[in-house]
Amino acid sequence: MRKTKSVLLYLIAFFLIGFISSCNNDALDVQEEAQIVPTLKGTVLKSATDRMGKFNYFRAKVDAGEDISRELYDYAMDMEIPNVINTPDYEFMRNQILGTILNPDDYNCNNSTIPLNDYVNNSISQWTDLDYIYYVFYSYHPQADAIYFKEPGYKKYKYGVNGEFTNQLNRTFKDLKRFWNINSSDIYMVPLSGSTYLNFDRLVEIEALYYPSQSDEENEFYAQFVQDLFGTETYWNYNHPLFSFNAFALSTTNSFIQDRIVMGDGILMGYAAIGLDDVAPQAILAHEFGHHIQFENGYFIDVAEEDQPEATRRTELMADAFAAYYLTHKRGATMNWKRVEQFLEVFYNIGDCGFDNPGHHGTYEQRLAAAKWGRDLASNSWPKGKILTSEVFYQLFEATLDDIVNCDNCLTEME
Ligand SMILES: [Zn+2]
Repeated sequence: MRKTKSVLLYLIAFFLIGFISSCNNDALDVQEEAQIVPTLKGTVLKSATDRMGKFNYFRAKVDAGEDISRELYDYAMDMEIPNVINTPDYEFMRNQILGTILNPDDYNCNNSTIPLNDYVNNSISQWTDLDYIYYVFYSYHPQADAIYFKEPGYKKYKYGVNGEFTNQLNRTFKDLKRFWNINSSDIYMVPLSGSTYLNFDRLVEIEALYYPSQSDEENEFYAQFVQDLFGTETYWNYNHPLFSFNAFALSTTNSFIQDRIVMGDGILMGYAAIGLDDVAPQAILAHEFGHHIQFENGYFIDVAEEDQPEATRRTELMADAFAAYYLTHKRGATMNWKRVEQFLEVFYNIGDCGFDNPGHHGTYEQRLAAAKWGRDLASNSWPKGKILTSEVFYQLFEATLDDIVNCDNCLTEME
């Protein structure tokens, strides 16, 4: 059955490629597609054989009753990061989740009072150590799908396991494009979803992309393997939130991968479970859109590696301010600030104590100060309801950044 389908798809693809080549010069894009190979940041995953070796290494430790959480955490941190493209928030959000679930001793930033942590921890309370290993080693397909394969398309996708966030997100995305004066016609939104595991042919394509040395048979073998593995109750039949607990902006000069915002089903489910689904989708999307303003207007700056944490903090606080401005503006999402603040309290508090970490996003106080600054700018707009251009907004933000970073009593002053 499946074989028939693959052959059919292959024929369709073959026909299309032939058609495109004969029509125009887009054949170049087809060639480029074959050249996209994600650069793996770490030295850990060199090949599928290495992966299997490392997997067995962890498995043996579990069988021997050893605690693997610290080592598995380090390993996970170092694998599968596609760093050929700019993806603000991708690594940060992913690390929060890995820190939460693997919880190594020195990862003490997690505030157990954050309800989202309870949601995540409850979702994995039945997992064995082996379940963790499978997750860390084999859950890259949804992310690869969202970054490299999901084609842009408005109203083409559903968001949320049952499509429950689709309208909310499509509406907000369209509204953000209207609100901000950047050229956003080439920015797309795509879902990140465990449903990637239902698409066998896509899984094969992802294997081929991530492990170029694998044979076709091996690609099919691993596609079948993960499809069987995650189609079980342990992993909620592909719908486990940790397959897609992320949201990020993505920009690249590679003409094959269009600029996009990736919105994960899992992170949306998590916020819905703690009662914040009226705010979270819009607020997360507005933050990611803020990063695209930065891409379009050139606000990301190249700095020396030792200055990266400070540079990242600057662009993250700026994205927080862009988001708060839009969310509370009379001609934006017109949200009630108290409600936005309740969301931010969770969003900003999912532990980030690694001040030397290049992905550092700012402390809770700094991030809230940036958001409040954006909110005040929106409510004091003059004439009433005027929307600032992104350029003017940026200049005002740069002029106040020091105050935001050095915020001590500023939060009480701002209320
Ligand atoms: Zn961000």
